[in-house]
Amino acid sequence: MKLVRKHAIGHIDPMNKTSFYGLSYNDLELLLKEHQLNPYGARVLFNWVYKKRRAGLPPNLAQVTKKFLNENISFELPHVLKDQKVIQNHQNSTQKFLISFGDSRTVECVLIPFQGKYTLCLSSQVGCAMKCSFCYTGTQGLSRNLSSEEIVGQLLSTYHWLEDQGHNLRISNLVFMGQGEPLHNFEAVQKACSIFLSQYGLSIGKEKISISTAGYLPGLKKWLASSLDVNLALSLHSTNRSIRDELIPLNKAYPLEDILELLKKWPLGPKRFITFEYLLIKDLNDREEDAHLLAELLSNYSALINLIPFNPFPGSTYERPEEEKIESFQRVLSEYSTPAMLRKTKGEDILAACGQLSSLA
Ligand code: SF4
Repeated sequence: MKLVRKHAIGHIDPMNKTSFYGLSYNDLELLLKEHQLNPYGARVLFNWVYKKRRAGLPPNLAQVTKKFLNENISFELPHVLKDQKVIQNHQNSTQKFLISFGDSRTVECVLIPFQGKYTLCLSSQVGCAMKCSFCYTGTQGLSRNLSSEEIVGQLLSTYHWLEDQGHNLRISNLVFMGQGEPLHNFEAVQKACSIFLSQYGLSIGKEKISISTAGYLPGLKKWLASSLDVNLALSLHSTNRSIRDELIPLNKAYPLEDILELLKKWPLGPKRFITFEYLLIKDLNDREEDAHLLAELLSNYSALINLIPFNPFPGSTYERPEEEKIESFQRVLSEYSTPAMLRKTKGEDILAACGQLSSLA
């Protein structure tokens, strides 16, 4: 059998099938062409697997293509090992999943209801190397990167779980804010995004996908040099160098000033902006003066500030500020032109909120 090009999708080994979910639309078309099969099969397959989310092979595929796929391509998805739910009201519940891969490694992802649709918070790595001091995942260290098929698999396994439960709400938004630093695994995240964006498959809008980074500058540079067009969110958390060093040790290698310098060149279309996340921690970065410094720092960016009150986790030494402190921080920001919103925390009862995910559940 003729091998497909390695740089595109890896070679096909009949003993070790290539995962369908790691193939972009272009990869699949190319693969079929290279094996003298009708490339239109790529459109039929993407529609069947991603739009209709059906199992098995589509009936309107040529026998010779079906034979090729059966012999060479795996449609195996990761398994949902555990699901946990926190109820906000009858129709509104945040759901956390523990997802297991072929090597028994696990990650968590979280499904968040919003206005009759869902946002899915995806993981990009098993654990994380960045050791942010406010983050439960950061206490685990990095076990390994997820492959693009494992990232896409989180979404499809979640969809199948929803359908098994009789829910037919759409997952309309994706955020890379689960376990891992997505830009530390840029190639796999980029490939997964190209699958999410494909007009023949899930067709999720570019403005509905966000990648959140702690400020991994090499990854930001790779992204800037690529054609990936989705939203960027930066975890900023403090304008003060030593406090940011404490919260995000990565800041010592790649200081905020260097990141902000690069972001001056970030291409943004009309009505697009960079989200700056700011974790509010009691007595550390929650003073009115901190709010003034934050707003002034971002005054020349097309920015949205997302305030996130700290979510405690087992063993954490930080605390969430009192409500009055959060309100006065917001009040100061409202005096400036950069819009700011307070993220309503959903799921803290089951450690499904921001910074609380773990592979150890
Ligand atoms: S906040 Fe993000 S980058 Fe930092 S340790 Fe946690 S998962 Fe990693």
